[in-house]
Amino acid sequence: MSGLYIHIPFCNEKCHYCDFYSGNQLYLIADYVDAVVKEIALRENYLVDKEISTIYFGGGTPSLLTHNQLFKILKEIRFRFRVKLDAEITLECNPENISSDYLVQLASIGINRISLGVQFLDDKVLKKFNRHHSKALIIRSLDILLSSSIVNISVDLIYSVPGIVDKFLISSLKLLMDYDIKHFSAYSLTVSKNSKLFWKIRSGEVVENDENSFISQYWIINNLLVSYGYTQYEVSNYAKDDFVSRHNLAYWNQLAYLGVGVSAHSYNLHSRQWNHKNIKKYIRDLESGIIDVDIETLTDIDRYNEYVILKLRTFQGLSDSYIKGCFNGEIYSYFSETIKKMNRLGHFDVIDDLIISKKSDLLFADHLARKLMF
Ligand code: SF4
Repeated sequence: MSGLYIHIPFCNEKCHYCDFYSGNQLYLIADYVDAVVKEIALRENYLVDKEISTIYFGGGTPSLLTHNQLFKILKEIRFRFRVKLDAEITLECNPENISSDYLVQLASIGINRISLGVQFLDDKVLKKFNRHHSKALIIRSLDILLSSSIVNISVDLIYSVPGIVDKFLISSLKLLMDYDIKHFSAYSLTVSKNSKLFWKIRSGEVVENDENSFISQYWIINNLLVSYGYTQYEVSNYAKDDFVSRHNLAYWNQLAYLGVGVSAHSYNLHSRQWNHKNIKKYIRDLESGIIDVDIETLTDIDRYNEYVILKLRTFQGLSDSYIKGCFNGEIYSYFSETIKKMNRLGHFDVIDDLIISKKSDLLFADHLARKLMF
């Protein structure tokens, strides 16, 4: 089974903390959709296993596309690949794009999961970071979403944000608990050098939160979501019942995926490829049938290191037999020896074949993974 990621690199405006590749040349959307359709056709052989179990429209703001434009892309995908009947098909949406009609249209073309970019629930903070919606609009979009036929709703949140104190974070989360949201992704604010926020912090206009506040808010979110019946299945992801993100799980389980569109990455077990970051060049290239990708061939060590980093962040943990079977003897010996030493410090739960980060250590999974890297 494989996955497909489609990058939609358009946003009304840039949020100040964002470093994803996106632009506001919305007049290019129609040409971009045509280019994406061509890329899908040209790269259909990239995936050896043509059975698609997840499709993810990420961005950018994919909800700037009309349902007809999304359908055009999905139609090409269905023509080139075998999309499973129960495939998870996600569209990232911003609250200002949600309407009852749009959701009916999305459901009619097979979109069955919405990932809503809420981020914060405070008007001042939303404005400070140049988000395009208000708290009232978020509530309105949730009301519409929860009365639609699409039940698999995920909400994205950002914490450890300057201006949001613990008390306010708790009340915002409790407000969200009134809704039957199936999945939450909660990431701490990261300050990238390519973001406007970086320069605001440099100039002293914004003061970054310290590590204590980050840890405190991580546990506020964790405790509250768990108390409301959500299961933490990765450091930053929580789900109710069976609503884990199958697309994310596929990444973490190192399944192959094809990434289409500017700046999209692909992985086919042996190599990683990525498209360049220039919307106009991308459209021009595809008009001439050209695909401009960079390729990195992955060694056993690369794949092992990646496996350790990704899986240690999840509830599934590391599989001893998988590492023994998939990587060479030298890597496996290193892994076994290092795990033995680290286990004396009690960082992991060992359940049969699996080595799983303890709940109290999950937040520091990246740090633990670095020690295990070859
Ligand atoms: S955070 Fe999302 S909506 Fe904001 S600029 Fe980045 S991609 Fe666009």
